[in-house]
Formats: sequence, C-alpha cells, structure tokens
Amino acid sequence: MNEAKYFYLNFIKKEGIARDVFTFYFDRVKRRSVGKLNFLAGQYVHIYLPVINEKSRGNSRMFTIASSPLEKDYISIVTKKGNSIFKKALFNLKPKTSVKFYGPSGSLVIDEAKKSSYVFLAPGIGITPFRSIIKYVSQKDLNIPIVLFASFSKKEEVLFSTELTSISKTYPNIKIVYALNRINEELIKKYVRNINKHLYYIVGPALAIADLEEVVSGMGVESWKIFLEDFEGY
Ligand SMILES: Cc1cc2nc3c(=O)[nH]c(=O)nc-3n(C[C@H](O)[C@H](O)[C@H](O)COP(=O)(O)OP(=O)(O)OC[C@H]3O[C@@H](n4cnc5c(N)ncnc54)[C@H](O)[C@@H]3O)c2cc1C
Repeated sequence: MNEAKYFYLNFIKKEGIARDVFTFYFDRVKRRSVGKLNFLAGQYVHIYLPVINEKSRGNSRMFTIASSPLEKDYISIVTKKGNSIFKKALFNLKPKTSVKFYGPSGSLVIDEAKKSSYVFLAPGIGITPFRSIIKYVSQKDLNIPIVLFASFSKKEEVLFSTELTSISKTYPNIKIVYALNRINEELIKKYVRNINKHLYYIVGPALAIADLEEVVSGMGVESWKIFLEDFEGY
C-alpha cells in the first residue's frame, strides 16, 4: 500500500457528466509535491480548500479517485453540486489553482496476485471507485472476473454507462449491469453464479449500503466476503 502524504496538484478543468454531476481533473504531471503520486485503483484522497466560516465540517472532504492509476496525466474525482461552502469553493476553482491533497487512503482495492472474483454494488455516486478499478483492469488486461451493479434513481443521474458498457464489450471478464431502481437479490442472482464464491464491495451513502449489505448477507454470502465503504456525509 502506498504511504499517505500531503501533496499539491493544479486544477485543470471540470466537465459535466450527468445532471449536476461533474468530473474534476487535477494535473499529475506538473506537481509541486516531492516523489511520485502512486495510488491503487479504488483509493481516495482528502481535498483541502481554503474555505472560511465552514462551521460544520472543516476545510476538507474525501473523494474517491475515479481515474485509473494508468491515466498518468491527471487524477479525477466526481461529485455533485452542493450548497456547502466547501462544494461552492470546489465548483469555483479556477484552472491552474494549486490544490492541497492528502492520500492516498483506503483499502477497497483489488489484489492482482490473488485469483479472486468480484461483485461491485454501487448505489449512485458509489460507482466512482469502480470506474477506476474497471478502467485499470481493462488497461492491464487482467483476467479478473467482475460484475458491477450500478443503480440510479433517474436516467439523468446515470454515470459512466457508455464508457463501462463499452469496456465490457471488449473484456468478457467484466459484466456491467445498470438499474433504474434498487438492486435486489433477484437482479444479482440473474447475473452472478455461485453467489458465495466472490468478494462483494459495496460503496456509497450510508443508508443505501446498509440496505445492500442486508441483501447480500440475506443471500447467504459469508460476512468476511462483504466489504463496505461509506461515503460519510454524502
Ligand atoms: C471514503 C469516502 C469517499 C468519498 N468519495 C466521494 C466521491 O467520490 N464523490 C462525492 O461526491 N463524495 C464522496 N464522499 C463524500 C464527500 O466526502 C462529502 O462528504 C460529500 O460530497 C458531501 O459534502 P458537502 O460539502 O456537499 O456536504 P456537507 O455540508 O459536508 O454535509 C452534507 C450533510 O452531511 C451531514 N454530515 C456532516 N458531517 C457528517 C458526518 N461526519 N457523518 C455523517 N453526516 C455528516 C451534514 O449535516 C449535511 O446534512 C466520500 C466520502 C468518503 C468517506
């Protein structure tokens, strides 16, 4: 695992990818930090912004790196517009502004050496680490079996569907399932054989992941095979 440290990256640009949802790009080439920025697909960073009067939560937030470690020129994060002072400062960033980071953090990564297979469950914004992992697995042509279930409440909110579906057409080890309602046992069983054989990664807002954990354990998956990452505060 790479050791977490403080580093600075220049903001490049933001791009709208769904309703009120944007990808933010930060320059990995022109860095002020010492040493290389190494991270594993699925990890997250803390972003610091010089916000004032932030009463509730201070001047940093955690964001998953949505880009793959092999997208060498930038790292990207994905988030929705919001009313917090932090979000406003983030959305007002001007190109070339130097931004303070801490990381990488997080252990929801894949083990390239082990022959595990994975089921990823992503309610909404929880899809970000899986975009990184799936892109990375495809770039390295790792023969790791993955089924991603991504759910969104509305069509306009769907993230990464075109890109991930296209990857799955080239890499038969990767299956992508999008749903416009809740992921349930029936849907999982339709696409996943040998339910107890895989590792289950569930990422997203607290309530949604608690619900999915119940679904997965209710199918008889042993608890040590279920891993959660809570987007606390989302
Ligand atoms: C590991 C990790 C990865 C994350 N990755 C992403 C990502 O890729 N994209 C993304 O958009 N977000 C991600 N988040 C969530 C992100 O850090 C922000 O919390 C979120 O975007 C909301 O920030 P905000 O400034 O809009 O809202 P805030 O104003 O900070 O808070 C929003 C709401 O949460 C409540 N709240 C405040 N503190 C807490 C707390 N400690 N626990 C629970 N509720 C609290 C507030 O009262 C408010 O109602 C991640 C969080 C974690 C922990």
